[in-house]
Amino acid sequence: MRLVRLIANLGYGSQRDVKMLLKEGRVTRADGSVLSDGDKVEHADIRIDGEELDPPQGSVLMLHKPAGYTCSTSDPSRVVYELLPERFEYRNPIIAPVGRLDRDTTGLLLLTDDGQLLHRIISPKANVPKVYEAELARPLTGEEAALFASGTLMLKSEKTPLLPAALEVLDETRARLTIREGRYHQIRRMFAAVGNHVETLHRVSIGGLTLGDLEEGEWRLLDAGEVASVF
Ligand code: URA
Repeated sequence: MRLVRLIANLGYGSQRDVKMLLKEGRVTRADGSVLSDGDKVEHADIRIDGEELDPPQGSVLMLHKPAGYTCSTSDPSRVVYELLPERFEYRNPIIAPVGRLDRDTTGLLLLTDDGQLLHRIISPKANVPKVYEAELARPLTGEEAALFASGTLMLKSEKTPLLPAALEVLDETRARLTIREGRYHQIRRMFAAVGNHVETLHRVSIGGLTLGDLEEGEWRLLDAGEVASVF
């Protein structure tokens, strides 16, 4: 891809804006030599005003999502994009959440502009386990684990039962739940179906990937090995 398009697609401005950056000599190699549109150059070697370029297309990031942020841009309240560099909002293709977390759910959220990868991760066929920890309004009865594991639980207005899910009791009112699909408000609805109510929900992992020491509200790029650990 030619430089103007590549840089414009990363959200640095319109193609016209980027042509101007090139004309002004602000787009260079790491060694400071000035680039022009037709030059063949590695992404990692490009600088704008001496700064490295934003991550290339096909990147995957993880965000430690705090409560109070939505994954949907159509929601008028705070959106997870506010936790990322502003320029990311203008990328083409956009970096989108890989499945949604509810506004008040915290924890591991993946985002990518790689549509194929996104669908591979969220497809029930991929069978990727997602682990959540839930704090509940009422004590667990002891009957939830068998029901959730049975593969027979039907949620209201759904046509097919949920896939088996594994529940681990952490204490009277806390549980760890592993699910392999991502239906709307799935975990909140599962606990509602057994007469309980989720007070807080935190996603701990997706496949083999965890947040590690990433602080709430922080994000970072994943390397290829980390992306592979999802499957
Ligand atoms: N299940 C839910 O109910 N909410 C989430 O955010 C994720 C899974």
